[in-house]
Amino acid sequence: MSQIQEVKEATDIIEVIGSRITLQRSGTYFKGLCPFHGEKSPSFFVDERLQRYKCFGCGESGDVFTFLEKYEGMSFSEALQQLADKADITLESYKKSSDDELREQLLEVLNLAKEYYHFLLTKHKTGEVAREYLKDRHVNSESIKLFQLGYSLPGWDGLIKFLHIKKKYKMELLEQAGLVIKGKQGRYYDRFRGRVMFPLRDSRGRVVGFSGRILQGDEKDAKYINSPETLLYHKSKMLFGFSELFQHIRKAGQVIVVEGEFDVVTSQQAHVNNIVAIKGSALTEDHAKLLARVADTVLLSLDSDNAGVKATKKSIEVLKPTKVELRVIQVPEGKDPDELIRKDPRLWRETVKHSVTAYDFLIDAAFKQFDATSPSGKRKIMEELAPVLAQVKHAVELEHYIKSVATKLGVQVSTVTSDVRSFKRHNVLPPEKQDIPQQAEAKKKLTPKEQQEQYCVYLLFSGPESKLVARAQQLSEFNFETSGVNQIIRTLGDQEGSMNVRMFSSHLPEDLKQTLFDIMAEYRSKNTLEASKEEWKLALKKLKKLSIAERINQITHQLALLDDKPDKSDKEEARQNELLKEIVLLRKQV
Ligand code: ATP
Ligand code: MN
Repeated sequence: MSQIQEVKEATDIIEVIGSRITLQRSGTYFKGLCPFHGEKSPSFFVDERLQRYKCFGCGESGDVFTFLEKYEGMSFSEALQQLADKADITLESYKKSSDDELREQLLEVLNLAKEYYHFLLTKHKTGEVAREYLKDRHVNSESIKLFQLGYSLPGWDGLIKFLHIKKKYKMELLEQAGLVIKGKQGRYYDRFRGRVMFPLRDSRGRVVGFSGRILQGDEKDAKYINSPETLLYHKSKMLFGFSELFQHIRKAGQVIVVEGEFDVVTSQQAHVNNIVAIKGSALTEDHAKLLARVADTVLLSLDSDNAGVKATKKSIEVLKPTKVELRVIQVPEGKDPDELIRKDPRLWRETVKHSVTAYDFLIDAAFKQFDATSPSGKRKIMEELAPVLAQVKHAVELEHYIKSVATKLGVQVSTVTSDVRSFKRHNVLPPEKQDIPQQAEAKKKLTPKEQQEQYCVYLLFSGPESKLVARAQQLSEFNFETSGVNQIIRTLGDQEGSMNVRMFSSHLPEDLKQTLFDIMAEYRSKNTLEASKEEWKLALKKLKKLSIAERINQITHQLALLDDKPDKSDKEEARQNELLKEIVLLRKQV
């Protein structure tokens, strides 16, 4: 048995998926809200016996490995490694790629660096300045612990002394981790010096980089510096707070997006803890994908009004391929959330509650920017808003916004409508990215026989496992139209002794496994009740009837062709006779 197989058998998909999203048992399968697209009623289901999942909404489907790959962004080898570790299996045959090994080493030094900085901040006397600084900024010790904040010494080689001299890690490795910089003369020095350190984690909670904020009074250097792009750290994917506050975000189903680390830290202290920071950059497609896994609404809270309009427009674009709704939180007096919270945590909580839709926000902003009483102001407002309104997908929503703009401008609704239409006509909007993989191969219509075949397969595999082999043998006499099913049934019928679905399916070739799973999924989505023994007998009888009817049809057709032939060969004559005999026999059976 391959080790991949071994790991798969030692793993329970229900446990792996169930520890990440809420699953509810329903007979021999589990149901939940699909983590790959936003939805309100569950169409994601996981089959315990076949160890596969499928979403009827978006079509995502696969096994425990593909789940981890898609959900956690792991590579196949990472997923395998993690599951092997959990099952206490040592992978021998599996060769790690050199990238995997480097990744592990980088994670190791980054984690040690985090410990080191955290120690300096929380335990060492040199950390006193930073402790004072954080106290000034109202950051409490629970937050320091939750985010594992740290402090880097002002000198050139604090971290080098610890990781290189003491712990013997190679300088090149520290450089690849983004922790040290190689100077002109080839000398290395610490990248982060004299700063409050924020560990930056990937979505799995592993430290992949840092950002460091300079202490007050020291502001000749950049206020913040970040890790450079490395094998592990990618700025465009980084959401500060995502991993630490993941459960809160999941629970809320909404996520507040702010600019800075401090906004996250102090907001969380003010009990608004479904929040992440994009660290002064723009929301990217990678961010959107990550957030769409857990939230159906993004509440954007950005500092300045002007940048806010730009960022909101960009975020509408970025979120478009997801089902995530965008709303905007307007912080009073142009402060950032952290400043507001320092003054009045309650006001922040209120502010969050009063978010407005992205469209309302942009409409408001346009009316603030231009004079709605003058003709040229009106024109400018429409020039600003037509492209915005052209993006609104739903007709009812669009009508709502159009009415609101028309009222504010003091013009007819039809005028605004025609402006939006004319914008659409002159600007072919880029085709919407397909977020939902189109339900592939538009389901071809099944014949009654095929339907009955599949129903029997469903009954077989959802029925008692003690009857599995015997029932498969009963089915072996039929010729199945559904591709792959003959092989599945015959293989199962050939088994000796007892067999269970999980063991049997785990040894099937992948394509057959998928075929079987698709059939099961189809019926389960219809919520078929557990079948009785009588149901099996009836189903078998019906299958037999349909098989005969179909065979009779075939023969009739062939006979008709032969009949039409003027001069038949001897062979054809013989064939005709055979068919006639067969049809007589068949007719007796029905
Ligand atoms: P603080 O609250 O710490 O004084 P701030 O609110 O003034 O910071 P901004 O200047 O608004 O922060 O920047 C917002 C975020 O952008 C910061 O939290 C940080 O993540 C990032 N940032 C700011 N300056 C830089 C920089 N020079 N390089 C990289 N990132 C930066
Ligand atoms: Mn700030």
